[in-house]
Amino acid sequence: MQYYSLNRRSPKVSFAEATVQGQAPDKGLYFPEHVPSLPADFIKNIHSYSKEELGFTVMQPYVAGSMPDAVLQQIVKETVDFPFPLVQVTDNIFSLELFHGPTLAFKDVGARFMSRCLGYFNRNNKREVTVLVATSGDTGGAVANGFLGVEGVKVVILYPSGKVSPVQELQLTTCGQNITALEVQGSFDDCQAMVKQAFADAELNKIISLTSANSINVARWLPQQLYYFFAYQQWKEAKAPVISVPSGNFGNICAGILAHISGLPVQHFVAACNDNDVVPVYFASGGSYEPKPAVATLSNAMDVGNPSNFVRILELFGNEFPKVKDAISSYSINDDTTVETVKEVFSKHKYLLDPHGAVGYYALNDFLEKRNETPGAGKKAPAQKGFFLETAHPVKFPEAIEKVTGQKISMPESVQHLLGKQKESTVIKASFNELKNWLLSH
Ligand SMILES: *Cc1c(COP(=O)(O)O)cnc(C)c1O
Repeated sequence: MQYYSLNRRSPKVSFAEATVQGQAPDKGLYFPEHVPSLPADFIKNIHSYSKEELGFTVMQPYVAGSMPDAVLQQIVKETVDFPFPLVQVTDNIFSLELFHGPTLAFKDVGARFMSRCLGYFNRNNKREVTVLVATSGDTGGAVANGFLGVEGVKVVILYPSGKVSPVQELQLTTCGQNITALEVQGSFDDCQAMVKQAFADAELNKIISLTSANSINVARWLPQQLYYFFAYQQWKEAKAPVISVPSGNFGNICAGILAHISGLPVQHFVAACNDNDVVPVYFASGGSYEPKPAVATLSNAMDVGNPSNFVRILELFGNEFPKVKDAISSYSINDDTTVETVKEVFSKHKYLLDPHGAVGYYALNDFLEKRNETPGAGKKAPAQKGFFLETAHPVKFPEAIEKVTGQKISMPESVQHLLGKQKESTVIKASFNELKNWLLSH
């Protein structure tokens, strides 16, 4: 498989080159030359596949030519090494729990897959690669955990001091080995600006091999398709599901749409956003896309004002607005509604949402209620059902959630070991020169 740049001013590259570069030289996002069609019997027989076999079958066409099958098999095995349960919440709504990985958010899948690919592609390279990443909370932990101990790869994470939750901070700062946390005296936007400047700095890039580990990287974006297939393995309803995805940078939902185009049965997608409503406004305005500065919300991993993967979604639909509109509905849910939703679902259905999942749940519920009320649906026809992606564990956002439920959230075992650990970070000012000096002297 070859990948082209969506800016169309850079040459096509292999999966390996796209992974190592992150972004194309013309600053475009890489995109697969064609969307592979799944084998004819794949969906019919999906129940007979193990997670590993399924992951291999879906990913193989995307990495073909860049690694032997045996290497991909091993990478997939290590990537999907935890459960992805689909849990019923109401008659019509299910939760796809993506928080059972090591850092309790769905980003574990992409980060693990990418880290192992990069380790493999860099195996004969004497020069160390430095992964530089800015995080508002979840990305940093997943990347740190995914890359821990990967040979030839050094990871430097920038996070805004005092602005990540306690569990998130421990996940970033207690790894040691090849992972360093830089605690920036500034905002997430400052961290991101410093990282962008580092990628653009000619002097720095001559001395250090830098790459990025956010969802613009194809090796982080593409494996997110897998959990949509894992959900379908567990789907027992008459009609294909409506799928609601809490969205920020739109990498996750875009991977789901890719899975659908390659053969996965899906009735409709719901893009669930918080107050950062660039995409909902795009739909409401008939296709006008106007980025704006991000605003802070309870679902902070979705505080994005210019979703970088949205261009990939447009590409998947040939940039035709009517087609995008047919496949996706979009919602903007504010913090008050998010809190109300957590409260209501906990008291009525005994299910504890995190703020991101709450946004997804609310949007899905609203969509299904309207869909099932339409007269054409008929009384006897089975109700349309669906699932939302529960993208993080509520324990990552204890302040927001415990206030609502009045109960302490118990720590899952996978993070209990963090509690006694000592945070290790290097405090730096929000200045690119400080970052550059640090990188050059370490
Ligand atoms: C990153 C993240 C999202 C948003 O995913 P995108 O792929 O950027 O749309 C949603 N929820 C949580 C918990 C996240 O960490």
